[in-house]
Amino acid sequence: MNNLHWLKRLQDLECPDATWSPEDDPLVLETAQGSLLSDVEGRSYIDLCAGFGSLPLGHNHETVREILHKHSNEIIHGLGDVYPSRFKIELMETLASLLPPSLDRMALAVTGSQAVELAMKTAILATGRSGFVSFEGAYHGLDMGSLSLTGREDFIQPFHSWFRQDRVTQLPFRCSMDLLRSTFRSMEKASAAPAAVIVEPIQGRGGVRAAGLEWLSRLRELCTQEGVLLIFDEIFTGLGRSGRITFAEEVPCDLLCLGKTLGGGFPLSACVGPAKIMSAWPVNKGEALHTGTFFGHPLSCQVANATLQMLAKEALWQRTKSLGTVFKEMLNRTLLHHPSVKEVRGEGFMLAIEFKRPGVGAVFMNQLRKAGVIAIPCGHNGECLSLTPAFNITEQLLNDAVARL
Ligand code: PMP
Repeated sequence: MNNLHWLKRLQDLECPDATWSPEDDPLVLETAQGSLLSDVEGRSYIDLCAGFGSLPLGHNHETVREILHKHSNEIIHGLGDVYPSRFKIELMETLASLLPPSLDRMALAVTGSQAVELAMKTAILATGRSGFVSFEGAYHGLDMGSLSLTGREDFIQPFHSWFRQDRVTQLPFRCSMDLLRSTFRSMEKASAAPAAVIVEPIQGRGGVRAAGLEWLSRLRELCTQEGVLLIFDEIFTGLGRSGRITFAEEVPCDLLCLGKTLGGGFPLSACVGPAKIMSAWPVNKGEALHTGTFFGHPLSCQVANATLQMLAKEALWQRTKSLGTVFKEMLNRTLLHHPSVKEVRGEGFMLAIEFKRPGVGAVFMNQLRKAGVIAIPCGHNGECLSLTPAFNITEQLLNDAVARL
């Protein structure tokens, strides 16, 4: 059965919004190993996307395979917020050991969007305020709370009528501190005093646009002066992709959202903060104020724990940093003279090629797929191609991919 056949079976069942697939050259995946993917026809592709940046060790890494094998004798699904599994505890200990010491309390969830929702609720509880500031081009997820922070009108517009407009103010990314300060004052007047500012240190889906350490430091200073919490959404950048574990090592934040890399390919996310902020949540006396059926899922926690241990043992963030520089140089050398290409940017394994025309990212994505490379568009107007490979991809495969590019 070929790709088109499978796609038609999907289309007979699925909500039309749920899956994109090009009808002239459909792709339905079947197997994967490392940074190589295969479709149902046995065609092979170099994966420069790595599950939207969620596979630090690539596909089906032996560490994960061993766990899947072993775990069949252990608990697969537990009762996260009632009777925890030891795997959740072990994961939290490993995660805490990797993060700056002040970030020592956490709550787990399943998706990135849910980690952001946790951060929003934490900020409301900790400050007693309800307003949020986010930035244009930001992507914080598409659940209703996180969607209100996401700076993409196309995602919000169909649901616009549902939102309370006074709760979230969106400002230009890297705006002046004066603008932020005056926004705080207006929000107070509108009875939605700011609980928190949320920022991606590098906007991922927004086109790999870096906030810059200097701007982040000024934002930190302002938030401290104003008693407003600073949330870093590092669901994309966090745990090594940007060449560091977290930007909070350089600029402290009050709450840190993690996802993607954290689960090592399994659905797992976390909102992390200092005890003094996280203790704004009441003690669970039998009914959690915020929980979910799959929070703290034992199998996901075990895979995440093993992935983080591997990350630490091999200092993979150093690899993403150095090989990311090599990859960026390769891209610059090969592509910069191309008339369509404007810029290659990013850090570590969070890179993007920006084209001169909007929408061109998808055109290149289609051409690359035909040439056996998987990469997806990003940027506010689809003007970029996002490159977020697995941390352990070989230099040879990067070379091959660049040659095809
Ligand atoms: N925040 C950031 C920075 C993201 O990149 C994403 C996903 N691309 C999310 C939040 C939402 O994560 P999820 O899709 O797992 O809900």
